[in-house]
Amino acid sequence: MNASSAALFEKFNKLKISAGNHSPSLTTLKAEMPEIEIKVDACFLSNPYATELFLKYFKKELLDTGEINNVLEFYPSQNNEIANLVGRHLQIDPSRIFIGNGATEVIQAIIHHFVKDKLIVNIPTFSPYYSFALPGTEVVYYELKKEDNFRVDPDDYIAFVTKNKPDSLVLINPNNPDGGYIPHQEIIRIIEELSWVPTIIIDESFIHFAFENSSLKLPSIASLLDKYPNVHIVKSMSKDFGIAGIRCGYAILPAEKVTHLLNTGYLWNSSGLAEYFFRLYTRKDFIVEYEEVRKKYITESLFFVTELNRIPKIKVYPTKANFVLVEILNGQTSDEIATELLLNYGIYARNCSDKIGLHGQFIRVATRYKEENEYIISSLRDIFK
Ligand SMILES: *Cc1c(COP(=O)(O)O)cnc(C)c1O
Repeated sequence: MNASSAALFEKFNKLKISAGNHSPSLTTLKAEMPEIEIKVDACFLSNPYATELFLKYFKKELLDTGEINNVLEFYPSQNNEIANLVGRHLQIDPSRIFIGNGATEVIQAIIHHFVKDKLIVNIPTFSPYYSFALPGTEVVYYELKKEDNFRVDPDDYIAFVTKNKPDSLVLINPNNPDGGYIPHQEIIRIIEELSWVPTIIIDESFIHFAFENSSLKLPSIASLLDKYPNVHIVKSMSKDFGIAGIRCGYAILPAEKVTHLLNTGYLWNSSGLAEYFFRLYTRKDFIVEYEEVRKKYITESLFFVTELNRIPKIKVYPTKANFVLVEILNGQTSDEIATELLLNYGIYARNCSDKIGLHGQFIRVATRYKEENEYIISSLRDIFK
């Protein structure tokens, strides 16, 4: 590293530290480091085709008609009205739906209100699941091993939970940051055998990228919840619908837990734009078009992963999400590779050096538009040649 890139690296690291367990936003990076040109943002995990689709509707129905004025000037519907829409769409009793200002708020609500003495979290993970735990909650980590490709082994997991007797546990499916997927039959088996755990949280924020066979049908377990009253589904719309900026998420909870939350706040925690999104989400015309961009993006992502697998000196872990966890095996650190990608190629990837439970050097790379994926591939080939 020469002196000027060392200075840039230093500056970038400071920004990263001030973002805690997350990455600096693109807006922050652009404002604070105008000297770097970001060509591809492969840090944030979103389907860019879905963002385009949302924007098409947004322009036609809100901007071109002037309706945007009402969305901005007036209050949106209250939480329970948006829950009615979403519940009807999902064919789930709306009294079980809790709307959040992004799933991060949903996670905070569940962890602060319903998790009690002991919570089992698989690592590596999405950090709010442990960082939001209240002081009285013991967080017990179940470590997924890179030797097993970060796979959850149902027998081993069930034995671990049985031994630890938690009141709550979290399974993210597919998991962030490794993309590991628990097949439908296995997750059902885990839920059935652990029916004595009062609060089972299943985070399906990346489920729209997962599939079990070539039909690419959505493998969500949300429709089965009537059978499993202790199962709580958390769903972010940020990544699969490409709308992290408007903060949309929800949970499916027992009705009395939704009532408890609504009695302690969360009245207008959604926004007019989020309500507009949720209304689109429940519309057939939008969903038909969305299914097309979802499948197109999955197909392109599969191709991206195949190409990544051909690059020497890295290991690409199996994924069913829209990103890949890449282990660096050429002796360089993830700090070095992430910096090189950013400064020399304009590619913003997630340096995973702060992720607990990862032993080795890892970066996480999101899949993007086809041309951007090609650029990422050629840049990594260049680095690891
Ligand atoms: C990103 C993420 C969320 C939260 O997303 P929001 O933008 O707050 O909706 C929740 N769970 C997982 C696993 C995530 O990766």
